[in-house]
Amino acid sequence: MAINIALDGPSAAGKSTIAKRLAKQLNYVHLDTGAMYRCVAYKALHTGVDLKDEAAVCKMIEETVIDMKSDGSIFLDGKAITNEIRTDEISMAASHVSAHKQVRALLVAQQQKIAENKGYIMDGRDIGTVVLPHAELKVFMTASAEARANRRHLENLSKGFESDLSQIIEEIRQRDWQDTHREHSPLKKAEDAVVLDTSDMSIDEVVKKIEELLPL
Ligand code: C5P
Repeated sequence: MAINIALDGPSAAGKSTIAKRLAKQLNYVHLDTGAMYRCVAYKALHTGVDLKDEAAVCKMIEETVIDMKSDGSIFLDGKAITNEIRTDEISMAASHVSAHKQVRALLVAQQQKIAENKGYIMDGRDIGTVVLPHAELKVFMTASAEARANRRHLENLSKGFESDLSQIIEEIRQRDWQDTHREHSPLKKAEDAVVLDTSDMSIDEVVKKIEELLPL
């Protein structure tokens, strides 16, 4: 029988990569909840909605359709924005909008509705604690800021992007601080989550480890 898997952890810990691989192997659906906060941030920035204005951001969400396809492509109000939401500017803006209590309530309700049927691997910051507190498996993936920044740096270089390692480390530390110190649903390990420090683990090793943790 299908279960739900909650995968939480700080920025750039590799959650999406691992969730995608696991979803393929288990024939589950991956839901990247961070992409939803990114879509909200993207739309606010492009329509002039003040990120600090919680009521205005909520009103905007109510008039927004986020469609996440099983192939990983993302549509915002019918427009493909899969890569556009991956910039550093949107990462930081997503971290800001995600601090609003009502913004979280609206997106959490959408996430809970999606996962009702089981068979989901959901990655985010509050999946094991708030979105799916009864998930059958909860994993808290972490890695040092340096290891995470280094992975992001190598990824940028492989895509031919300019990349400054020390700047990435700084941004990761700043987002960690924002995500762990916000008042509402801060990034925190669920009591019953299994911690995986992936600093020195390959993708294959992490996937294998999580498969071993699956309830029979
Ligand atoms: O996972 P990702 O880096 O794409 O998430 C972008 C931002 O969205 C995070 O820095 C975090 O502030 C926010 N987020 C959140 N809760 C989630 C997923 C993401 O607050 N479940």
